[in-house]
Amino acid sequence: MALRRKLIAGNWKMNGLRADGIGLARAIAEHARIGNPACDLLVCPPATLVVPVGEAIAGSGVALGGQDCAPAEKGAFTGDISAEMLKDAGCSYVIVGHSERRHGHGESDDEVRAKVAAAWRAGLVAILCVGETRAEREAGREVVVVNRQLAGSIPGTATADKLVIAYEPVWAIGTGLVPTPADVNAVHHSIRSVIPQGARILYGGSVNPKNCGELLSLDEVDGALIGGASLKADDFWAIAEACR
Ligand code: PEP
Repeated sequence: MALRRKLIAGNWKMNGLRADGIGLARAIAEHARIGNPACDLLVCPPATLVVPVGEAIAGSGVALGGQDCAPAEKGAFTGDISAEMLKDAGCSYVIVGHSERRHGHGESDDEVRAKVAAAWRAGLVAILCVGETRAEREAGREVVVVNRQLAGSIPGTATADKLVIAYEPVWAIGTGLVPTPADVNAVHHSIRSVIPQGARILYGGSVNPKNCGELLSLDEVDGALIGGASLKADDFWAIAEACR
C-alpha cells in the first residue's frame, strides 16, 4: 500500500484580524520555503482571511482550506459560504463536521454528509471530523459513536484522495487533555476499517509541540488537526518537524 504522507493542518477558528492572519501565514510560509517539510501543510483561516492568507502562502507549498461550507452551491443562504466559493478563493480543503459545528450549531450527520458532498462537488478535499464526548468516552462508547458518525456523514462515493478523517475527541479539544496513545491508535484502527483504503486519519485535540512526537509516531496517525497551537508559527512548524 502506498505510504500515507502525513498532513499537518491548522484550524485557526475565529481568530485573527488581517494583520495577525497575514503575519502568521507569512511566517508559516517562510518555514515551509526554507525547511523542506516532511509532511503536507495546510492552514484553515477564518473566511475573511482566506484570500489574503492564500496570497501570503502562494508558492510556499502550504495549502489553504476553509473551516466549513454550505451544502448548496449558491442561493438565499444568508451568511453561508459555498464550497465553490472556497475553491474559487484558492482553497483545496475544507473542514466539515467539526465538533464546534456539530454541538454549537446543532449539525446532524445528514447535514455534515451534505457538506462533504458539496466539498467534493466543488473539487475540495473534505476533512471530516468525528469524535465522542466525555460522557460517551466514560461509557466506553467511543468506537460506537465514531462509527455512527462515519456511517452517517460519508457519502457513498468516497475515495481516498478526497477524504481525510480527523478523529477529535470532543473532551480533548482546547482542554489540554489527550487520550493515551493506545486509545488513539485503537480508534484510528477502527476508523480505518470503514473508510477507503489509503485515506488519511488525523488526530486532533490539544496537540502541541511537547506531545506531538509521540502522537505522530503512532502507526495509525497520519497527521494532526491543530487548533490553539496552529496560531503560533513556531509551534505549528515544530509539530510539522515531528513528522520527520
Ligand atoms: C480543533 O479545534 O480542531 C482542535 C484540535 O483544537 P485544539 O488543538 O486547540 O485542541
